[in-house]
Amino acid sequence: MQDSTARQNPSVAVIGAGMTGILMAIKLREAGITDITILEKADKLGGTWRENTYPGVACDVPAHMYTYSFRGNPEWSHRFARGAEIQQYFQQVADEQGVTGQVRFNEAVESCHYVDGKWQLGTSKGTQLEVDFVVSATGILHHPAYPDIEGLDSFKGDMWHTARWNHDVDLAGKRVGIIGTGSTACQAIGEIGHTAGHLTVFQRTPQWIIRVADKSYSEADKARLRGRQDKLAAISRRYAFVLRNTFSKAVTGSKLQHAYMSWTAKRNLRKSVRDPELRKKLTPDYPVGCKRLIINNTFYDAVQRDNVTVETTAIERICDAGVVTSDGVTHELDVLILATGFHPFNFMRPMDLRGRNGQTIDEAWSKKVQAYRSLCLPGFPNFFLMLGPNTPIGNYSVIAMSEVQASYMLKLIDLWRRGDLPVVEATEQAKQRFNAYLREGMKNTVWVGGCQSWYLDADGDPAMWPYSWQQWEKELQQPELDDFVRVAPEEAEPLRPAA
Ligand code: NAP
Repeated sequence: MQDSTARQNPSVAVIGAGMTGILMAIKLREAGITDITILEKADKLGGTWRENTYPGVACDVPAHMYTYSFRGNPEWSHRFARGAEIQQYFQQVADEQGVTGQVRFNEAVESCHYVDGKWQLGTSKGTQLEVDFVVSATGILHHPAYPDIEGLDSFKGDMWHTARWNHDVDLAGKRVGIIGTGSTACQAIGEIGHTAGHLTVFQRTPQWIIRVADKSYSEADKARLRGRQDKLAAISRRYAFVLRNTFSKAVTGSKLQHAYMSWTAKRNLRKSVRDPELRKKLTPDYPVGCKRLIINNTFYDAVQRDNVTVETTAIERICDAGVVTSDGVTHELDVLILATGFHPFNFMRPMDLRGRNGQTIDEAWSKKVQAYRSLCLPGFPNFFLMLGPNTPIGNYSVIAMSEVQASYMLKLIDLWRRGDLPVVEATEQAKQRFNAYLREGMKNTVWVGGCQSWYLDADGDPAMWPYSWQQWEKELQQPELDDFVRVAPEEAEPLRPAA
């Protein structure tokens, strides 16, 4: 066991300097932990907001709710903040809090092994690091999913994924195709529709969309909020209250709220799209909210422009000239944009992560990607996975989720510092109990409504939180000690052979 001085100020490696990594650095320091190393693979912080720079990128959670609770932002330009200003916000908070200077940029963690009670990390710069705790703050949606379509590489025009936007190519006047109609595509289409010569939207599955007015904040609005963290917090609480009592309830079992949400989405389609043929193409055949509900004010207008076509015939293959659909038509294109989403179950991978006894993360997750309370992995002591499996609560703010997880995690580290836990490691039984509890809750959710979405794992189980936000917050208030390993295997009495 480590001496109490080392326990007082444990060394912690935070992997990733996105929204969660920045938060962790701040919260660890507040808890009196100063030996913190933040490793970031890129040359800038910001995570998803650094990587997604496609036209129209914005957050569909109200901006005043999409902030750290301790640092409201009076400067938001709109109710739904644009990607660049969100990136600027994180940069600003990290600078103010002295986090930026602590980040080791351009240094990806390649290996992370638990050896003799410590984590040993190897980075892309060839450096080695030994720490007591590892916090993986690598985010959920950061590995672009490229579609498995025959001939994808044969396309001779310009082609890129939305998370790797090519700003060198001007779309003005070009024949552009976009595959996908998820949240990303809908935002991008709203913008590209105005610039492209012709835009073909290849839609495999239509989506339910809700329109929420996106008011802009005037200088006077901003001035009223400057220096008023109390007012900013109150606005954030109001939005949170509304989301919790409408959307979050609608997806987790409230029939009344679901009926209201369905009515709103159906009405939006009916009112927004005049042509019955096009409306039919855009009408989903699964319950509202089964796929992540899209909050968007520009998509329906864009697809009704003369220079935009919605193509619903299945894509057969891609050739050098463009996209060939199953009716034999070749849609000739100059640019093909892949708005085809992400691999949501990769988390910290492809990092070579090995826990106790050399068990790899691929072995631990060979049957299913699961965690205890989304954060702890049995066999991986003193390792935390922020925003891990079953964290997301529909369209709620991931910042709020991260803050609750951070506070729970710090309570666990505190138990270790006081010597009440030999290591912070959930038991396999606790993980199984927790996941059985999740399965039970899923039965009431709309995510099992028969649609295909990134929420579902390989077995078709949603990797979401199926209960209310309040329930989640309550359950993460205090760690339940019985769910954790009480005697670390290396500290246990050796088993005596039976007489
Ligand atoms: P997504 O929701 O997974 O959508 C991917 C789209 O690509 C779907 O329309 C999918 O069709 C289509 N697709 C994938 N492979 C295809 C193939 N082989 N052939 C034809 N179509 C194919 O991805 P996303 O739009 O990037 O959004 C992912 C998540 O990012 C969102 O749900 C949200 O959580 C987050 N996001 C948030 C915001 C925000 O404002 N907060 C903005 C953007 C994204 P199917 O539906 O048929 O599978």
